[in-house]
Amino acid sequence: MHANPADNLSELEKLEPLLQRSLRAGGRSFRFPAELERIYRLFIFPSRRRRYAALAVLALVCYDLFIVCDWFILPDIFPIALIVRLLVVTPAILAGIWCTRRKGGARLLEPVAAGLLLLSLASLSLFMVLSRHPNVVHYYSGIAVILMFSNMIIRQPFPYALGVSMAACLLYLVTVGQAPVMSTEAAFSSTTVVFTSALFSLVGNYQMEFEHRRDFLLSALQQISSRKLARMNSQLEHLSLTDGLTGLANRRHFDQTLQREWNVALRNRYPLALVFLDVDHFKNYNDHYGHPAGDVCLQRIGTVLTRVSRRAQDLPARYGGEEFVVLLPHTDLDHACVLAEEIRRDVQGLAIEHHYSAAAPVVTVSLGVAAFVPDKERQADDLVRLADQALYAAKDAGRNRIEIAAAPATQPADAPST
Ligand code: GH3
Ligand code: MG
Ligand code: MG
Repeated sequence: MHANPADNLSELEKLEPLLQRSLRAGGRSFRFPAELERIYRLFIFPSRRRRYAALAVLALVCYDLFIVCDWFILPDIFPIALIVRLLVVTPAILAGIWCTRRKGGARLLEPVAAGLLLLSLASLSLFMVLSRHPNVVHYYSGIAVILMFSNMIIRQPFPYALGVSMAACLLYLVTVGQAPVMSTEAAFSSTTVVFTSALFSLVGNYQMEFEHRRDFLLSALQQISSRKLARMNSQLEHLSLTDGLTGLANRRHFDQTLQREWNVALRNRYPLALVFLDVDHFKNYNDHYGHPAGDVCLQRIGTVLTRVSRRAQDLPARYGGEEFVVLLPHTDLDHACVLAEEIRRDVQGLAIEHHYSAAAPVVTVSLGVAAFVPDKERQADDLVRLADQALYAAKDAGRNRIEIAAAPATQPADAPST
């Protein structure tokens, strides 16, 4: 594929069944179904336009270099040849390059190229008809060269290649009939060469066009499946990090993030806080209100945690069962306690009836809070352990409350950090 703008690829993705049908059909037709053909052209156009422009310049240089041949081989019509080459064909090729490079020139690329090829073929025919020099019999080779250039080098789309080749053969027949010094033998052998050149280059052109279209189909299908695979991978990645019931981050996600944030906080010497919470008397809740109601209760607590985790780097997660955590990077103990209190109040404010709790007539949570600036003497697990201990303290103290972890021994101020 020649270009890969994401937009085009998305459009192409919608046409996947069409791509597959076209591939199954063998890609032998010279046009895809209209919608696919439009996108095919969008994909190939940028590189085709560059190639046509570069080859047009090359062709122009070669065409004008043949002025030396005219001077050498057809001295009788040299002035006319010079005028035709420099004042007719050369400006026409330059105009063709200019107009196909303009905005909206995409549609003109192949017709303009076909027109210029016919013009250059006609110029050689003209020289053959005008010249009375015996050398003129050699000029058929120029026609064969132009046909090769059209069909094999520029690789015009097959319908254009066919049209130009047929026109060239017809023109040559007329030319041979009109050329004054052409012997029958020379006419016969040169016509044979021109027709054979047309035929061979057309067969080559057909094969290249077919392979180009098949490559496009294969490459498009491959890119589509890579995109699908990448999408599925990211969905899987998301699923593997998400808790199915609450939609919060799961334990795995929490563990990974904790380690990452720990390292960042260690490097930058800022505090990391953790709120650890557990639903009070949740077994009783399940036993009396049923597991489905218990699930809904956990989901509603999850929405509270999401709501209070306002900053992008705050991570609420389900730690397991009816235990949750909120990781708060760049947060000191005071702020973590404010947030924990907000959680406690909001969960109570959900007013989920729980007549079998000793803590309150509604569902409540107990919370442990820990926060400190990481240092090399401690591990990320220490933060979890401290918050968990504080949570147990909150349970022991009667539930529906917050306990703060005892501050760990601090490092000396000049302790090295990485
Ligand atoms: P405490 O106040 O000491 O925390 O008591 P508790 O009853 O909440 O604690 P316990 O560990 O005895 O019970 C936890 C209950 O949480 C038991 C289990 O059935 C329930 N649980 C864990 N995961 C889920 C879940 O995904 N859905 C539901 N509905 N219940 C769950
Ligand atoms: Mg528990
Ligand atoms: Mg509990």
